[in-house]
Amino acid sequence: MADDTRRREQLRQSVTTYLDLIEEAKALIGGTVYTQQTWDLSTILDVLDPPSIDFNSIDGVSLRVLESMVSGCTSCRLSEGRTMTVFGEGSVPARLMVIGEGPGAEEDKSGRPFVGKAGEYLDTWLKAIHLERTAGVYLANIVKCRPPQNRDPQVDEREACLPYLRRQIQLVNPRMILLVGRTAAQTLLKTDEGLASLRGRYHRWEGIPTVVTYHPAAVLRNTETLRRPVWEDLKRVAAFLGIELGR
Ligand code: SF4
Repeated sequence: MADDTRRREQLRQSVTTYLDLIEEAKALIGGTVYTQQTWDLSTILDVLDPPSIDFNSIDGVSLRVLESMVSGCTSCRLSEGRTMTVFGEGSVPARLMVIGEGPGAEEDKSGRPFVGKAGEYLDTWLKAIHLERTAGVYLANIVKCRPPQNRDPQVDEREACLPYLRRQIQLVNPRMILLVGRTAAQTLLKTDEGLASLRGRYHRWEGIPTVVTYHPAAVLRNTETLRRPVWEDLKRVAAFLGIELGR
């Protein structure tokens, strides 16, 4: 670690000198006087010299470093079959963070969460409450690698991946969490209760108001029965976020 710190300091000094030279040159060309400045180089240093991956220090890492930790993770067997890790994406901070159980085939190929038919359907839910995945919403999953044949992620796999999600939620800092599907709800809320009894009320995850509903893929398979309860849950999200839905 001492070597890491020394190397980072040397890199910081070199980049600072380089930036100072550029600014001095610009001042010279513009006929002004250059006053030395203090540069915030943390992001550029993270890119040039990524911090070592240390699970004991996950609580202190940035979102970008967390993503790079996930991309190299082999902490559970799901790493063996993945094409890409699916870290999550969206607005930071977010008004709403939607969390599903894990990547499916299309997510595994693209590295992006909630794509394909279920993702498109989720977009219509968000639109119905005047939100968009690209504005104010962050999407993620309990596990970051695809379970084979889309089976549920097993308990040890979920536990292995949970520190990433916990830190991700801290960094995304959502006003509200929407858990979609039984696995996501039971894992984060640490309960064996069924989804039907978990939905229809507000929960809290580490102080953050949380609503549970069905997974969009499940609703697509059973639209007739599940569409109405999902709409009730979405109205609950909108009410908390102060979104007026009209009549
Ligand atoms: S699912 Fe999570 S813990 Fe398992 S290998 Fe992927 S990133 Fe690591």
